[in-house]
Amino acid sequence: MAIIKAMNPATGELMANIEETKIEQIHKLYADSRKAFASWSQLSIKERIGYLKQLKSVIVLEMDDIAKVIVNDTGKVPTEAITADIMPTIDALDQTIKHAEKLLAPKKVKTPIFLFGKKSLVEYMPRGVVLVISPWNYPLQLALVPVISALVSGNTVILKPSEVTPTVGKCMEELFKKANFPHGVVQVAHGGKEVGAKLTEEKPDYIFFTGSVQTGKIIQEVAAKQLIPTTLELGGKDPFIVFADANMERAAKAAVWAAFTNSGQVCMSAERIFVERTIFNKFLEIVKKETESLIQDRSKEADIGSMTFPDQKEIVKRQVRAALCEGAQLITGEHPDDWDESMFIKPLILTNITADMEIFREETFGPVLPMIPFDTEEEVINLANQSEYGLNASIFTSNMKKGRRVARKLISGAVVLNDVIVSVANHYLPFGGTKQSGIGRYHGEHGLTIFCHEKAIVVDRGKRMRELQWYPYKGTYEQFLRLFQSYFSDKRNWAVFLKTYLKLLKK
Ligand code: NAD
Repeated sequence: MAIIKAMNPATGELMANIEETKIEQIHKLYADSRKAFASWSQLSIKERIGYLKQLKSVIVLEMDDIAKVIVNDTGKVPTEAITADIMPTIDALDQTIKHAEKLLAPKKVKTPIFLFGKKSLVEYMPRGVVLVISPWNYPLQLALVPVISALVSGNTVILKPSEVTPTVGKCMEELFKKANFPHGVVQVAHGGKEVGAKLTEEKPDYIFFTGSVQTGKIIQEVAAKQLIPTTLELGGKDPFIVFADANMERAAKAAVWAAFTNSGQVCMSAERIFVERTIFNKFLEIVKKETESLIQDRSKEADIGSMTFPDQKEIVKRQVRAALCEGAQLITGEHPDDWDESMFIKPLILTNITADMEIFREETFGPVLPMIPFDTEEEVINLANQSEYGLNASIFTSNMKKGRRVARKLISGAVVLNDVIVSVANHYLPFGGTKQSGIGRYHGEHGLTIFCHEKAIVVDRGKRMRELQWYPYKGTYEQFLRLFQSYFSDKRNWAVFLKTYLKLLKK
């Protein structure tokens, strides 16, 4: 029996041995899921919401215990476990409970004149079994938000949480049990990439993936072979632009938070801080002071915790070391050669960054704040867009017109003016990336409808004997010509249109 060793990254302690889902069990997971779909999909949305309410109550009741599990599994600080992982999950549940019925109700749409006498609607039909594969950085939120949306829309779900944070995976499995979800409606498969790969090969009806670009591409390839629709939420290298007219104090605090929250292991963290040259030195001074005042340990007061995944620490180390070898300057933090064996990396500020460095081009996913000066608006737009990624961006300026103008030119899934990351917290906004940052959108209405087939319904009461465009065609060409020309010409000719229409009706 394969075992996943759940290690606390901050202490190095072994917390639990978690049994991996056997490859042979995966077929049965799908069989159970399809069986459960037959009844779950037939429940009313209100009935499904009833289960979500139970889940919400359990999470609210057990919030403190869940926070401890997240902290021990990820090394993040307790405040961030509760504010950035648990709260967004409950908020998404709350929004879903309040709005799902309305969002998934059949929607009447307009019917054009040439379909006279009919009614048109869009109905939402669940897809079937949804596979959700999630990462380790926000192990609760990034797993449960898509799961909740898929469930309320009438799908059953197989969730594969990250093997890097397996006790959160186990905890989520328990939460669904405590909320009394019927057998087979939500199942959790524990394991790493082999389990993930096997799950994608078993032909789910939809794959919702959050993780790296590298894995996203593998999943998209497997999905393409079976024409399985996907949403891919991938990495980022988000630009953070500070113009000279910005509220400098606010921008500096925002930059420090956006670069170091969750030890920088955020898909939307600020990874390239562009600062207008005239304020560069002053801004650097404030950012350095703010950074050096952060508390980094395992206490409840801590601002920064440890890294979660040893492999990620190595990526950060490699990128920082390479940048320093290529001429970058270390303003604060420790040279990678001096890092100890622990998973804590002191927050780093780097300057003298050039666009050809790996640290400028590749996702770092660590507590690194690289600062780059710019002179003109055009230059900074080009620099910001000079990336394979396009997830989120921030612009700090007191000139709203300029802010909106620059925002329009950034190739990005979201842009936030005078703030950071918050676009993800508003469930009325779509969330997702451009370029290598992903395919598709979720949250809010998008988050529900992606898990449904949008079914077009046309209703005719069936009283008339025939339709205009039905057989026979004999003698109708000239009449249709007149009908369309009278209707679509710049100056609509209603008299000719009606006369021709009635004539065609009588044919
Ligand atoms: P990862 O791609 O290594 O793993 C993600 C998940 O995929 C894990 O559950 C893993 O077990 C599974 N997996 C790995 N190989 C697989 C395969 N061949 N088939 C099926 N499943 C497989 O990513 P990670 O290291 O867990 O997460 C970090 C990455 O996620 C970063 O790049 C980050 O930017 C990105 N991310 C994106 C968002 C977003 O919303 N855009 C949010 C958080 C994290």
